[in-house]
Amino acid sequence: MLSKNKKPISLHDSKPEGPFPDPAMGEPFLLTPGPLTTSEEVKRAMLKDWGSWDGDFRAMTAELCRRLLDMLGEGKDDFDCVPLQGSGSYVVEAMLGSFVPRDGKVLVLANGAYGKRAAQTLGYLGRDYHLLDKGDYLPPRGAEVAHILEQDPEITHVLAIHCETSSGILNPVEEISKAVYAAGRKLLIDSMSAFGAVPLEANTIRYEALVSSANKCIEGVPGFGFVLARKSELEQAKGNSHSLSLDVHAQWDVMEKSGQWRFTPPTHVIAAFLEALKAHEAEGGVTARGARYRNNRDILVAGMRDLGFETLLDEKWLSPIIVTFFCPRDECFDFSQFYELMKERGFIIYPGKLTVVDSFRMGCIGHMDGDIMRRVVAAAGECLKIMNVTSAAPPASALEERRLLAS
Ligand SMILES: *Cc1c(COP(=O)(O)O)cnc(C)c1O
Repeated sequence: MLSKNKKPISLHDSKPEGPFPDPAMGEPFLLTPGPLTTSEEVKRAMLKDWGSWDGDFRAMTAELCRRLLDMLGEGKDDFDCVPLQGSGSYVVEAMLGSFVPRDGKVLVLANGAYGKRAAQTLGYLGRDYHLLDKGDYLPPRGAEVAHILEQDPEITHVLAIHCETSSGILNPVEEISKAVYAAGRKLLIDSMSAFGAVPLEANTIRYEALVSSANKCIEGVPGFGFVLARKSELEQAKGNSHSLSLDVHAQWDVMEKSGQWRFTPPTHVIAAFLEALKAHEAEGGVTARGARYRNNRDILVAGMRDLGFETLLDEKWLSPIIVTFFCPRDECFDFSQFYELMKERGFIIYPGKLTVVDSFRMGCIGHMDGDIMRRVVAAAGECLKIMNVTSAAPPASALEERRLLAS
């Protein structure tokens, strides 16, 4: 909410009575999958300094962990939460290095940049891995996971990416989990861009650990990530890590004993995150957060299709997190001009991360609602007119490739 005595200057003609009154406070909205647009309350929570050893701050850390564990539903008692300084990639690296023994082997299920980054991380860590690379937009399926695990008894762990943020595909983790545990192996999940908006309850889907970070679906600011892991895995993780600062077991151990972070915590970021967690609960938890994002996506996708744009993914795999659109084939379309024109209208969009076709992405997450997504679509329409783009339809080759690979 806007505070009574401070009216932010606004680029937008936002309705002050709406549920999301200009959260960007005059800045452009971030249609990016984290950092993302946060509420004014979250930003204001950072205006105070905290002593990291202080009892009040330790209570904040404990509350943060309790609230995150609550999102796992009834199976949460078998899990513990270990927050860790750094961006999301730091917690992915910490999870892999701490839970995979040095003589372990990981099956990495990749269909985009984050899966590939996890494989690269294992390379740095000197852990053996098998990479299943599905290209840009096909999901790894349970049957092929089962087949690979049957062929290779050395594989101890499987790493799945929940929502692969580079295309926006929502991977079938439930089906993957069944295949992994039927073969007696262990599942680790990078749920960075899905946790908090897509259910991942411990009694519904089996896994040993998941990671996510402060600046995605919980709508905090960047600065730390967290591991939610089975206590049994945390106990067994002792001595596995290649790294002092990324040792999840050591961080857990110190937090258990003292309630403190091992090294300087991002105090302001944590204060902001607690505010974000309270808003998450007030909104109605994971279900309501997911519903708002799906509504954002539906309005965005319908509106962009009306303008002639096409989504990279088939309906079935479209996540409520981020959507990839093909760039129009029209010669007048120029992505960098489109980007600048959208920015002038108050919206920061995201370039594509695909290897083959030209694309761009728009995020549905952050402190934004359907009204804002309608404004995004209207702005995109204006930009096309200014660029003299008559049709936003993608090149036939892009659609043909999608058809061939998806069949
Ligand atoms: C954001 C994200 C990460 C971490 O990226 P950072 O830039 O290090 O925060 C990892 N995996 C997925 C799927 C992500 O969306």
